[in-house]
Amino acid sequence: MIPAEPSFQLIARVRRWRLAWAAVPSVIAACSSGPRPTPAASASAETPTVTARPLPYPVFETPAFRRAIERGTRTRTGEPGPKYWTQYARYALRAELDPSAKRLTGEGRVRYQNRSPDTLRLVAFHLYQNLFAPGSARNVEVPTTNGMELSRVVAQGRALPQLRDVDGSVQAGFQIEGTIAWIRLPTPLAPGNAADFEFSWAFTVPVDGAPRSGTDSEVFMIAYWYPQVAVYDDVNGWQTDWYMGNAEFYMGYADYDVALTVPAGWLVGSTGELKNASEVLTPATRERLAEARHGSSVVHVVAEGDRGPGRSTTVGTGGKVTWLLEARNVRDFAWGTSDKYLWDATYAAVGTVGCVPRASSRSAAAAPPTSCDQRTDTATINSLYRPSRIPWAWDQSARYAKHSIEFLSGFLWPYPYPQMTALDGVVSCSGMEYPMITCIGGQRDTLSLYSVTVHEFAHMWFPMQVGSDEKRHAWQDEGVTRINQAQAMRSFFGGYDLERIVRDAYLGLARAGGEVELMRHGDLYPIGTPAYSVASYQKMATNLVALRALLGDDVFMSAYHEYGRRWINKHPTAYDFFHTFDDVSGRDLSWFWRTWFYETWTLDQAITSVQASGDSATITVEDRGLAPMPVRLAITRQGRSGVERREIPVDVWLRGERRATLRVAAAPRITKVEIDPENAFPDIDRTNNRWGR
Ligand SMILES: [Zn+2]
Repeated sequence: MIPAEPSFQLIARVRRWRLAWAAVPSVIAACSSGPRPTPAASASAETPTVTARPLPYPVFETPAFRRAIERGTRTRTGEPGPKYWTQYARYALRAELDPSAKRLTGEGRVRYQNRSPDTLRLVAFHLYQNLFAPGSARNVEVPTTNGMELSRVVAQGRALPQLRDVDGSVQAGFQIEGTIAWIRLPTPLAPGNAADFEFSWAFTVPVDGAPRSGTDSEVFMIAYWYPQVAVYDDVNGWQTDWYMGNAEFYMGYADYDVALTVPAGWLVGSTGELKNASEVLTPATRERLAEARHGSSVVHVVAEGDRGPGRSTTVGTGGKVTWLLEARNVRDFAWGTSDKYLWDATYAAVGTVGCVPRASSRSAAAAPPTSCDQRTDTATINSLYRPSRIPWAWDQSARYAKHSIEFLSGFLWPYPYPQMTALDGVVSCSGMEYPMITCIGGQRDTLSLYSVTVHEFAHMWFPMQVGSDEKRHAWQDEGVTRINQAQAMRSFFGGYDLERIVRDAYLGLARAGGEVELMRHGDLYPIGTPAYSVASYQKMATNLVALRALLGDDVFMSAYHEYGRRWINKHPTAYDFFHTFDDVSGRDLSWFWRTWFYETWTLDQAITSVQASGDSATITVEDRGLAPMPVRLAITRQGRSGVERREIPVDVWLRGERRATLRVAAAPRITKVEIDPENAFPDIDRTNNRWGR
């Protein structure tokens, strides 16, 4: 998601926060202000000085990850192991929305396939709506409702009672703990078997202000609306961290058949594809939709005068229309609806050559279908918005959506789903991604609407296809998405530099001493500060820019693509990300991971002198920060047009040095020396990066 717009608002917030912190003596500022006093014997300008500095120790595995390697489900190269598996589910859901009462009632069946080698006695489901229940644990302010009102729970054909403690029980039943329902099964679920569950439920749709969904009375964004089976994975088993508002989600892959009943005349945007268009849409609407799939221009499928029962949709039965929707191999299902919506549509060409190769799980039986199996050459683009949003650039939304999908398909790999929908939602959506649909709220201009559209659409790759745990490692989808967004914005706006904006945001917070490391659970960042968004979005994007400069564009992109290829429809951990980059680049980058992911060390390289003596000149560089990086020097000489490039390798700092010298030819006369003129590495103080006559 985008919690706030990336550019100016965020930087303004960082600035305000920095001012608040300016009066506080900062440990980080003290650490990065310069080298510590050194013993007199070794402190000479000619001899590299060995001083105390943190040396990045290797990234070590958790015991759980090591066990996964021993069991053959993970590897130390970043490839999934030969015995890798994921669970899978099939949902058949029905729901009816009563907009006047703001009530949703639903019932559903879930078939859960146990493809793990473990026998499961307990199965966990998310009841995300309990975030809004009175007294629930949360770290954001939310409107309250009664949460998820569960009236029926059936497992393996048996209606279950609610229990106090499923752990201590021998009886089958369910227990609700926060946003999780634990079910003790009547019969343990053996490897290779499936269990069926049935639920009936209802809830009051929260008003605008609910994170990522809700209603402002005109539109309803319905998300986290059904009991969703939690992820049981090969590393950690059940992952049942509560939904507390800030940290996002970790979801398994599943098929969905969904029937949504809404008043006639209300348009639905959702995950998946409409299966009963002839029962839902009038012939005129269907005709214009078909036209949008053929021509390259944007078609107004439903214009202002086309809205209403019998015009955009059929009149239905009893004033209601049921939309049948189908989605295959997705992490979730979300939808939005309004009788105010206009509907624009077009299509995106997602690429015609090849497709992402099947990821390398050698256990074919355990492999879910890859994106290859469902790939289409074009994807339908839909945009649903209120006429009141036209001044906020929504009449351009379909065009922005088309560019986003086409650009990202080329930059990453072809978009694998049949359609993508941008939906004008409640303000508190800000920008929120769901499979094949995004909810966008709040006042926008053209820059802001394109920015949020391409960001959320980029999430269709990470985490929708590359299914990492967004709660525990938000950088794995948000920071990666931020960098993909930056490339698309540079293309769309002719040079727009989001990479610079996010680097400045990171550096602002780092200078203020408010930074928190990336390797932290998303619900464990300080509330009311930009620490979470800076770590997960801005610093991670900045780390990727640095990594790209370190490895070179080609190696970086092949490692990046390979990481995606290996983990499509799977659940990569942070280690799988690190290992893949090590593996593809052929380098041990653990110093880089340790420095930029586990620590808040900052980079401050400085040129202290350039001295000519005889035929040679000596450039002296000090590493005044705590983050070791190579020193990239650009040397300009009198009368020469070209710039000479030299590098002091990172190994110098990894040996513990604080100062390094580089000897170059004295002639022609050196007029300027600069460290990293491209700004590839996030140096916290660039005033000491230049030497010049
Ligand atoms: Zn995001």
